Amino acid sequence: MARKKQEYPVAEKVEILDAGSEGKSIGKIEEKVVFVPFVVPGDVVDVKILKKKKSYFVGKPVHFHTYSSQRTEPRCEHFGTCGGCRWQNMQYESQLHYKQKQVEDNLQRIAKVKLPEIRSILPSPKIFFYRNKLHFTFSNRRWLTEYSRDISFEDRNMNGLGFHMSSMFDRVLDLDNCYLQPEPSNSLRLAVKKYAEEHNLDFYDVRNSSGFLRNLVVRNTTAGEWMAIMVFNYRDEDPIEGIMEFIRTNFPQINSLNYVINQKVNDCINDLPVYLYAGKPYITEVMNGLQFRIGPMSFFQTNSEQALVMYEKALEFAGLQGGEIVYDLYTGTGTIANFVARSSSKVVGIEYIKTAVDDAKVNSEINDITNTVFYSGDIAKIMDDAFIARNGRADVVITDPPRAGMHEKVVRQILKINPEKIVYISCNPATQARDVAILDENYQVEIVQPVDMFPHTHHVENIILLRRR
Ligand code: SAH
Repeated sequence: MARKKQEYPVAEKVEILDAGSEGKSIGKIEEKVVFVPFVVPGDVVDVKILKKKKSYFVGKPVHFHTYSSQRTEPRCEHFGTCGGCRWQNMQYESQLHYKQKQVEDNLQRIAKVKLPEIRSILPSPKIFFYRNKLHFTFSNRRWLTEYSRDISFEDRNMNGLGFHMSSMFDRVLDLDNCYLQPEPSNSLRLAVKKYAEEHNLDFYDVRNSSGFLRNLVVRNTTAGEWMAIMVFNYRDEDPIEGIMEFIRTNFPQINSLNYVINQKVNDCINDLPVYLYAGKPYITEVMNGLQFRIGPMSFFQTNSEQALVMYEKALEFAGLQGGEIVYDLYTGTGTIANFVARSSSKVVGIEYIKTAVDDAKVNSEINDITNTVFYSGDIAKIMDDAFIARNGRADVVITDPPRAGMHEKVVRQILKINPEKIVYISCNPATQARDVAILDENYQVEIVQPVDMFPHTHHVENIILLRRR
């Protein structure tokens, strides 16, 4: 028998106090924290409690008493349903304030080290249309909005092409519009959907892995080059030819048009062969006169203009004179390594993913950079004493780990390398603070520079310069 869901009461007049690190705002009920989505600090709301845990509650707003002065009208009609830009109803200045606070709070609470004054967060040059990559999903179970619930069952079209609904693996929000990537991203997505429906092509059914169309990935560069990747569930020559030719003729601005056959259960296409349908196999980003080739599977920071700002800061903090050996840990496709190569004597990049390392080497080659070396493998395993002896001890270590931060072994090894400076770029201030606490043994924090890479989300990047004591 299905268990009846427990009903909790509505808490009245809850003042929203803070914007939490997971994108949910925070209020207090009975001295306990309550997480509430889509509200803004300064709002006073009645909160329907949905979940009660030992140390916190989760709720949703059901009635507003006061609207915060930090609010702004969200630009996107999908705000509130789409999980993508949860802070779009908060003024950009306030978003920056709460990101800055996130960095400060984490360093104070977790790192507990002596800190300089934290620099003001660098705002993103663009707050809309700033992304250079979007991954759309086809689904035959689109999310039904309030509006579409009014349509009779027979008249409902359940096909959707858009983003996954957060925490609902089988539901996709069908997008009419999205303000994350410039044109022709929207018109391409809408045209592809229209074509698919007119030609009765099946949208993917994630529950039984059936249906022909799975994903559409759209990438672009600041110079205006475009790449599209269609992902099909199986090979069926005629419809593949039909839709690819439709895209080719209607979107001539796409420089690299590709497709992938993905028969796996998950959406990850990184390990699958890519078929080039038209154009060239990559697009090119240009930064500071350097070219970076972006293939269908290459990693590249998703906000290119702000990435350039961040790399320039990292380079400035590294203060390279030209004679240094630099290690670029978690180098991805070697962007930072190549970016700093001309200012150093040698750069050693390490990265887990073999194909990313291949891209990194190509990026050195096409820019005539000859003083970089790249290794693929787990840094915790390969950066041992012999590795350091072979490659030379680093004067500067630049590190840019994923959200989990660095493995403690890696932090210890950096202490052993004993570089003069460490430039630590992070997308998770909590794990960065944890790692800085260990580095405190020999390093003092000299600069803390938050960077806003993802407007309208709670995500924040942070650069810390550590100097040997
Ligand atoms: N510095 C890069 C981006 C790094 S993203 C840039 O600016 O473009 C983090 C990278 O760390 C990813 O490419 C990921 O594959 C890699 N990575 C994660 N864990 C790793 C590990 N244990 N060893 C080596 N690389 C790792």
